[in-house]
Amino acid sequence: MREMSKPVVENVAIIGGGIGGLATAIALRKQGIDAHVYEKAREFRPVGAGVSLKPNGLRCLDAIKPGLVDKLRRLGFQVQRTTLKTSTGETVWTTKTPMMPKDQDLTFAIWWWHLQHILASELPSEVIHLNHRCVSFEQNENTVTAKFENGKTVEVDLLIGADGINSRVREILIGDGQPTYAGSMCWRAIVDYRDELLLPDEGLIIRGEQTAMILYPLGQGKINWSAGKLFPESFVSPSAAETKYRVLKEFCNWMKPILEMMAATDADSILETPICERLPLKQWSYGRVTLLGDAVHGMSPGGGQGANTTFEDAYELAAYLYNFPDLQTALTNYDKRRIQRTGLFHLKWCIRIASQKLLLLRQAI
Ligand SMILES: Cc1cc2nc3c(=O)[nH]c(=O)nc-3n(C[C@H](O)[C@H](O)[C@H](O)COP(=O)(O)OP(=O)(O)OC[C@H]3O[C@@H](n4cnc5c(N)ncnc54)[C@H](O)[C@@H]3O)c2cc1C
Repeated sequence: MREMSKPVVENVAIIGGGIGGLATAIALRKQGIDAHVYEKAREFRPVGAGVSLKPNGLRCLDAIKPGLVDKLRRLGFQVQRTTLKTSTGETVWTTKTPMMPKDQDLTFAIWWWHLQHILASELPSEVIHLNHRCVSFEQNENTVTAKFENGKTVEVDLLIGADGINSRVREILIGDGQPTYAGSMCWRAIVDYRDELLLPDEGLIIRGEQTAMILYPLGQGKINWSAGKLFPESFVSPSAAETKYRVLKEFCNWMKPILEMMAATDADSILETPICERLPLKQWSYGRVTLLGDAVHGMSPGGGQGANTTFEDAYELAAYLYNFPDLQTALTNYDKRRIQRTGLFHLKWCIRIASQKLLLLRQAI
């Protein structure tokens, strides 16, 4: 590593204005790199459910922009006790402290939209280009050119694919197909707090047969619910109304307050997601193009590390582009370090998925 006064690239195009792309842009601009974000959406809208921010992700965000974590914490919420219940409402256990007491001061949950909004507000508005869906790119020894659906092109020193689990950049760069379905479906939404469900500072884990749910307060009178069910095949409902109908059907044997909460949830706000994984790669960067976040290591939300490891990517990539003598060395080191680190989470996830599949198999016999 070196301590130089100049990064190895001058301008960067980041494809994807999710939380990974935005955090990376903040980190790169702090290093003096002219980083721009290209997002396919026409506008940033108040969507998404709760995201749990953990010490590893928060430390990186704090290093990327001191003071950012304090802003997020003011909008986030920290659970003070956790209860496990059965789907019919019997309490199995309650802890009076968070699940991980050593992380107590750091871990908190926040609405995904608040997180995206705060990250976006740290950037000059002219560097976020909405309505820019990247369709292709070409690179040579000196530059990389990204092409967008709206006909525009941009030529830069480095292109970063931060375009999520169905990454177009990965498709062109690696071409290893669609993400792998991991055997369960998930539905998430944010609703008004209901005191018949949980205490204002309580997180709830509920387990049923091949089903599970997590509920926790998000502050400002809201709670996040996230329900999952094992399914051999993935599916996505054709409309919001059918998504809601499906959730109510799948959880129809659950306790009444949960069914009432689901029934009261606005159908349009329910996110239905097949849980998918991205198999680990041996190399993330080729020439002047690299990847980060879900585009390269999409992982189950169950581990709570999707967003947090993405912030690690953002911080480390920016540091390597500043601290190494040339682009190739910077990206080789980025790949080496991040592949090793995210591989650990992948391994944990594989063990979890294997036990889920075993459970399905045992029940089928
Ligand atoms: C709308 C939305 C809501 C989410 N809500 C939650 C949530 O509630 N809880 C949770 O734990 N996780 C949520 N996630 C996922 C979570 O943010 C990711 O797991 C993780 O944080 C990785 O972030 P990322 O930036 O790599 O990918 P993402 O957050 O998926 O962002 C990728 C971005 O790239 C854009 N994009 C995709 N293709 C192109 C293209 N060709 N050209 C330009 N732009 C493109 C997408 O529109 C998106 O904004 C959500 C993601 C999205 C997009």
